[in-house]
Amino acid sequence: MEMTGLQIFKYTPAAKKLPKSNCKECGCPTCMVYSLKLAKQQIDIDKCPYVCEELRQNYSQSIKHPQKTIKIGDLKIGGENVLFRHEKTFINPTALAVIVDCSKSDYAEKIKEICEFEYTHVGQTFGVDLVILINTDNKTELSFQAGRQCSSVYENNGLSHYSLSFVPRNDINVLTIEQLQQLSLNIFEEQDFKTTKNYLIETRVKAILEKDESCSAPVCVVMKNDDIYSQCARAGFYLCKYANMLIFEEFDKDLLSTLITLRHNIFTDPQKTLQVDSGLYKYNNPDENSIIFMTTNFALTYFAVANELENLDIPAYLIIVPADGMSVLTAWSAQTFTPEIVSKFLDELDIKNKIKTRKIIIPGLVSDMIEELNAQCPDFEFVEGTKDASDIGKFVKKIINSNKVISQ
Ligand code: SF4
Repeated sequence: MEMTGLQIFKYTPAAKKLPKSNCKECGCPTCMVYSLKLAKQQIDIDKCPYVCEELRQNYSQSIKHPQKTIKIGDLKIGGENVLFRHEKTFINPTALAVIVDCSKSDYAEKIKEICEFEYTHVGQTFGVDLVILINTDNKTELSFQAGRQCSSVYENNGLSHYSLSFVPRNDINVLTIEQLQQLSLNIFEEQDFKTTKNYLIETRVKAILEKDESCSAPVCVVMKNDDIYSQCARAGFYLCKYANMLIFEEFDKDLLSTLITLRHNIFTDPQKTLQVDSGLYKYNNPDENSIIFMTTNFALTYFAVANELENLDIPAYLIIVPADGMSVLTAWSAQTFTPEIVSKFLDELDIKNKIKTRKIIIPGLVSDMIEELNAQCPDFEFVEGTKDASDIGKFVKKIINSNKVISQ
């Protein structure tokens, strides 16, 4: 564990009431300031000529990185510092890799299929991170190096070359198994579940808590190619605790989509909210008379509302107000979703001139804002919507049935 400023301070002359206490020779006004800076690694430990050997040893141990970071192109593997996400955050999501056997006749199609696979979750698009080629014989010359590129094969003077015949995703990497083995990775063949689980946990605990260098290599688990449901359950566990990469023999879109969803939830930074871009979103080809909904830019709020609007068979707009990624009620109480902010944002989007509709449906949770909103934005009339996004469909039907005019 990294030392805190107070833990460091205990070793300084000021804490020990020695003659050089707060002497400023390090450039800091006090030993406490030096300690705080050292804890954040903002000052060199040698700036203080009076550092004791015990502090030097404990500090150098505390700043050692417990797990190495291995780079393959843009892909980073490992580099974790904590056992639990809430302690700080996890750094690099578990990489998902698929093996392609180049001795099989359909291998080029398989590479193409893997490279084209995309899965979108909470507004972000993901895919397979790494393709690992096996059985690339001596006659095969790979035109790509360690790094990105997906290829199909053609023959030239007896040598097989790989060349691009389609546009791959630009965030996928391809390596031969030999290239992968040269990296400082711990490649572990999956045993039975209990053995693998224990191995992963013990290795990570030793790396993080004991800073055991023999456990500092990121761990890649080569999954057994058995029943897909069992494989999915085991891989899900290893992804949480504590595989840095999972390697699959077969390419299965459902398995990978499930793991990508799980991974996206585990590897978000708990200190940052998930948010989407603010702006005007359109559903089912709206025109200038279509209904308008409004909510905040908290990702889960956005996707809940967007999903309902997508599935309605009426055209609609959704205004996403910038609210520091907070949900509606939180943003309202934190004053990041206020009539002033809404008014400014409507002007910024130029809604008044772009759309003829003058009624804007706001979340029912903030119906108390309606009076102030109407006063602040005199060009519009704000209408109380539903408290829950799942009721939007019923809400819209009710309006249509009762012939209430939402537009104009
Ligand atoms: Fe304290 Fe800095 Fe003087 Fe060291 S050099 S004794 S840390 S004030």
